[in-house]
Amino acid sequence: MAVQSVESSTTSSASVPGAFGPAVALSCRECGERFELGPIFACEACFGPLEVAYELPAGDPEGLRRRIEAGPNSIWRYAPLLPVPADVAELPSLDPGLTQLVRADRLAGELGVTGELHIKDDSGNPTHSFKDRVVAIAVQAARTFGFTTLSCSSTGNLAGAVGAAAARAGFRSCVFIPHDLEAGKVVMAAVYGGDLVGIEGNYDDVNRFCSELIGDPAGEGWGFVNVNLRPYYGEGSKTLAYEICEQLGWRLPDQIVVPIASGSQLTKIDKGLKELIAIGLVEDRPYKIFGAQAEGCSPVSAAFKAGHDVVRPQKPRTIAKSLAIGNPADGPYVLDIARRTGGAVEDVNDEQIVDAIKLLARTEGIFAETAGGVTVGVTKKLIEDGLLDPSLTTVVLNTGDGLKTLDAVAPTTGPSAIIRPTLDSFREAGLA
Ligand SMILES: *Cc1c(COP(=O)(O)O)cnc(C)c1O
Ligand SMILES: [Zn+2]
Repeated sequence: MAVQSVESSTTSSASVPGAFGPAVALSCRECGERFELGPIFACEACFGPLEVAYELPAGDPEGLRRRIEAGPNSIWRYAPLLPVPADVAELPSLDPGLTQLVRADRLAGELGVTGELHIKDDSGNPTHSFKDRVVAIAVQAARTFGFTTLSCSSTGNLAGAVGAAAARAGFRSCVFIPHDLEAGKVVMAAVYGGDLVGIEGNYDDVNRFCSELIGDPAGEGWGFVNVNLRPYYGEGSKTLAYEICEQLGWRLPDQIVVPIASGSQLTKIDKGLKELIAIGLVEDRPYKIFGAQAEGCSPVSAAFKAGHDVVRPQKPRTIAKSLAIGNPADGPYVLDIARRTGGAVEDVNDEQIVDAIKLLARTEGIFAETAGGVTVGVTKKLIEDGLLDPSLTTVVLNTGDGLKTLDAVAPTTGPSAIIRPTLDSFREAGLA
């Protein structure tokens, strides 16, 4: 099998004690079969996706809470719950996380929310998207496995996050994107000095290409953060769940609205919330998880509404390019979670995305990228449709920075007036 050649050329995890902290194995999400922690991502028995399994700290939630609160101001405060070594905070990393949870009362007023509304603003990460979280965990695994080149297939944000993390940690990087992304994302992916390759095709073509490269000698020794390191990568999204609960005073939100690209983030937020309940760090109460997509790439939303368990691939056509994955790997798991928790999956069109970006900006002073327009727009729609309860505590994710997707709002946003530098000219403009 293709994965084997990579594995045999790198260090075995067993030779690095403590490299994965509380993680004990990889387990198949379909059949439950367990494997040694290694650079593998598919089950040998059934080809199902693998995920990290833990023996989490038990018995002393108070002690763990104090230890977390006294930890670093980054995702590394949650090291006891992640597949990373205990001293991870001392290793070179961008130290992402602990982004603001913003109480959004003015937005709540506009949306008719009477309960608490919060924006988890992940644009505050080092490369201005939530991807720094997932990459940080994958880099630790890459180090342990002896990979020297970091790579990924990306819709844009991931390429920048990998480029930057590789620069900080001293890896070579070579990342792959669809060739027609927003300028902000292309420049950010290139500026850190690694190789950036634009592929003539959409994200699903890029991803297919990377799967081929992994099996080829040309990709030997390469850690693809979202392919052969995907089980580790995914775990980074748990930190969003941890932070939200800690920032709410160790309390679960009632409802959380999450954007869906591959669906990984949404499934791992659910995993993180379940872990906090199991450990006893938060009270065991029901919560609902809602998924948000752009209408122009809404395979999961379409399946949810049709009551299907399978997700039919789509050809993406939307301004929300960071979410434009037409064949989302975690789609079926997202459907399970939305249904199990009593949530839903909804989509909004490009115009609604732009309106929502502007709504969030003018009510809360947060400039979101298109993915944030998707979550805020979907939240509005879910309230209007009676699917999201406006009287409860709701957290809406903004996963990226509006400066990366200026094109989305530029055509309808600009100066109120252009005047001569005179008071008369200003008065004529009618702005006084
Ligand atoms: C990658 C990304 C997501 C979600 O990705 P998943 O593949 O679903 O985990 C959300 N928002 C932004 C801005 C992203 O770049
Ligand atoms: Zn399996």
